Amino acid sequence: MPQKKCSFCGRSEKDVKLLITGLNGYICEDCAQQAYNIVMQTGALEQGKKEEAFEMKKVPKPKEIKEYLDEYVIGQDEAKRYLSVSVYNHYKRLQQPKDDDGVEIEKSNIIMVGSTGTGKTLLAKTIAKLLDVPFTIVDATVFTEAGYVGEDVESILSRLLQVADYDVAAAERGIVFIDEIDKIARKSDNPSITRDVSGEGVQQGLLKLLEGTMVNVPPKGGRKHPDQDYIHVDTKNILFICGGAFDGIERKIAQRLNTHVVGYNSVQNVAKIDKSDLMKYVLPQDLKSFGLIPEIIGRLPVLTYLNPLDRSALRKILVEPKNSIIKQYIKLFQMDGIELTFTEKALDYIVDKAVEYKLGARGLRSIVEAVMMDAMFDVPSRRIKHFDVTDEYVRKQLDKAHIQKAETN
Ligand code: ADP
Repeated sequence: MPQKKCSFCGRSEKDVKLLITGLNGYICEDCAQQAYNIVMQTGALEQGKKEEAFEMKKVPKPKEIKEYLDEYVIGQDEAKRYLSVSVYNHYKRLQQPKDDDGVEIEKSNIIMVGSTGTGKTLLAKTIAKLLDVPFTIVDATVFTEAGYVGEDVESILSRLLQVADYDVAAAERGIVFIDEIDKIARKSDNPSITRDVSGEGVQQGLLKLLEGTMVNVPPKGGRKHPDQDYIHVDTKNILFICGGAFDGIERKIAQRLNTHVVGYNSVQNVAKIDKSDLMKYVLPQDLKSFGLIPEIIGRLPVLTYLNPLDRSALRKILVEPKNSIIKQYIKLFQMDGIELTFTEKALDYIVDKAVEYKLGARGLRSIVEAVMMDAMFDVPSRRIKHFDVTDEYVRKQLDKAHIQKAETN
């Protein structure tokens, strides 16, 4: 009996791991893999892709997106509206037919400016959850540490691929949240002649990624053989949402507003400026003054801001969101058959402490954790049906715990 051979590469059965039998021949695992790659590259599966794009019709309308965000994020109405519209437009853009009238909808990457802990990441995460698309968070500062960009860009996309379960088409319409974008700002407003690794150079590297480029990502677990193919990921349809605290940008905004006023504007306009919250006047040129290069700003056309969280916002954050901290503790106790309640005064006291220690929304969790620790330890072994947290109890527990005041910078 003649020896079985791969009809494509000619290797015999004993030289390959797998030989698949066809009508008139055989194919080995390597050739099958190569054939698959060719099919993917020639776009012969375009038909399938179109069908997926069609499904995007299920994308909720901006109003629905905002309503969903409202369930999880307190306040930040302006940012929610901007995000809802740009995300909606982004997915519309993905649906636009190729043989259109020449009007091409451009990508609407987003930049959110707002102090840390005001909900930037939460907004991006919540949107990704609603849309059920692959989502990953990266910190812009990793670009600085590595010094050069090539590798890092790959690693962002390989994370996105991972969460997409290596479904390239899904990853290609995912959302990447780049945090701390302000940390790669140029230190001065003057373009430097030498490439500066901590600022401008890194920004240059990000440009292509934001706009759309083909990135070669090593396959799962890295590239083990030199002939193993990279996975090609096109970033053209990935939505990038950037966030940054831009500490001190208010000063740049104030400067700009002042110069304007001295110029032509009437005294009336000066009165209208709300000095306590300058962030809401942020414009692209303020990002430039802060040290982002114009090309980056141009690729993040949607600019919005987040308000600092005041006392009443913190109070709402504690109880109102669908998975608010308090609701989570109530659920934990419920699982032991215990009804957990908090008095209004207890909640006020927790918020007071978060404000006093300047811990913001992030601090609420650690405060409640400190308050509830003893109860979570004791109560499950006691035969009680109800546990009430009063302001007195909160005070007593917090006196025991040593919560540090946040460093003010
Ligand atoms: P940022 O990205 O702006 O630094 P995050 O979105 O990571 O801040 O917020 C930190 C945490 O604080 C969130 O996980 C959430 O629990 C809470 N938080 C912050 N802002 C809000 C908000 N506006 N509504 C509800 N929770 C918030």
